[in-house]
Amino acid sequence: MKIFNTLSRKVEKFEPINPPSVGIYTCGPTVYSRAHIGNLRTFVSTDILKRILNFLGYKVSHVMNITDVDDKIIKESKGEKNKQKEITQKYEKLFFDDLKELNIEMPEKTPRATENIQKMVDMIKNMVQKGYAYKTEDGIYFSIQKSKNYGELAGLKNVSGTKIRIKNDKYEKDNPQDFALWKFYDKEDGQIYWDTEIGKGRPGWHIECSAMSTKCLGESFDIHTGGTDLIFPHHTNEIAQSEAVSGERFVKYWVHGGFLNIKENPSAEAEKMSKSIGNVITLDSLKEKNINPLAYRYLTLTSHYRSEMNFSWEALIGAQSALEKLFDFYNEFGKNIGKADKKYVSEFKKLLEDDLAMPEAVALVWKLVKDDSVENEDKKATLLEFDKIFAFGLDKLKKEEIPQEIRKLASERELARKNKEWEKADQIRKKIEILGYELKDTKNGFELKSVK
Ligand SMILES: [Zn+2]
Repeated sequence: MKIFNTLSRKVEKFEPINPPSVGIYTCGPTVYSRAHIGNLRTFVSTDILKRILNFLGYKVSHVMNITDVDDKIIKESKGEKNKQKEITQKYEKLFFDDLKELNIEMPEKTPRATENIQKMVDMIKNMVQKGYAYKTEDGIYFSIQKSKNYGELAGLKNVSGTKIRIKNDKYEKDNPQDFALWKFYDKEDGQIYWDTEIGKGRPGWHIECSAMSTKCLGESFDIHTGGTDLIFPHHTNEIAQSEAVSGERFVKYWVHGGFLNIKENPSAEAEKMSKSIGNVITLDSLKEKNINPLAYRYLTLTSHYRSEMNFSWEALIGAQSALEKLFDFYNEFGKNIGKADKKYVSEFKKLLEDDLAMPEAVALVWKLVKDDSVENEDKKATLLEFDKIFAFGLDKLKKEEIPQEIRKLASERELARKNKEWEKADQIRKKIEILGYELKDTKNGFELKSVK
């Protein structure tokens, strides 16, 4: 198996520290708002990586943290402890529901930051003792000058000259700074603080991940994943803190997923999907348009995980039709399940091992479906084998009552309505009626019913 390592900027041979065990840590959500489909793309990629490693015979233990205390959460809950709990529990649940809808396997462990404060305090104490960290009037800071190779992951140069400090968890790559490990109590924090040996206050965001990853996977582990936006400062700082404490290499392979850009309509420019720009789409917005979340899973697999992906509703509707066509083929191949085709499975495996070549793996599905030299029942068995990675849910498939053609028309009408093309939307609705189906608009999108 080969995988791209952000640290070396090369595709490397994957050799775990203690085979066949593989430890993976993923930066989980900050639970104060709904995850958007750009965030979810990264979690699909990690799910694919994990399924591939299990498929290849490794034994993966996967840890994903829940950030339930940070600057944004405190602001959102106005320093009220009850409110903090209410907000974080609500969004944690919604996030786990999203994972389920996308057939993403739950990690073995999902530690919460607020339940691991002592480990963070211990690490900070250790860094102060060794001279990596120092105390100021508003917090305890990490001195990046003391760190060997600070910024290597992000490719930073000339880090040593800096002596500026930053308390915020996020800052720009052009300006590496000493960052807060522990933030002393400020009255804006309200009831949200911990009384500890290093003072009354709360942790910085970066130390949360260093603490939870090493607590669950050991001081040195195999794979750390996240979106490319986390390379700096978050992952850069995770490395600095963790290696300062342990004196060992923190992570062997850094695996980062590309951004999702959105094109709101065919003539618009593609821009990054982000909460701050206000162009986010959630799984709910998909379901409102009667789009199966798994169509989004399919769509993400048609781009390589490292490339930026341009999202458009047209592309998503295309992915939904492709997925439904696959479901139809699978059903039409009959009831019997034969033997997986060795040639196809070996070709598939080769693609998985080649830095997760999923677009090519998706293309292989269609090559198989159309290959007359393979028996239908063997095609079914092979598709089921592929689906261990794709996880489109072929094994749970029941025959849908509404034909694909009708569902496609309904999605097209929804798109026309979104683009305010009322006449076109009306025409499509009439067509659906002529074909014997009724379309009803509801507050959650639309419903289709046969009127025969
Ligand atoms: Zn993290």
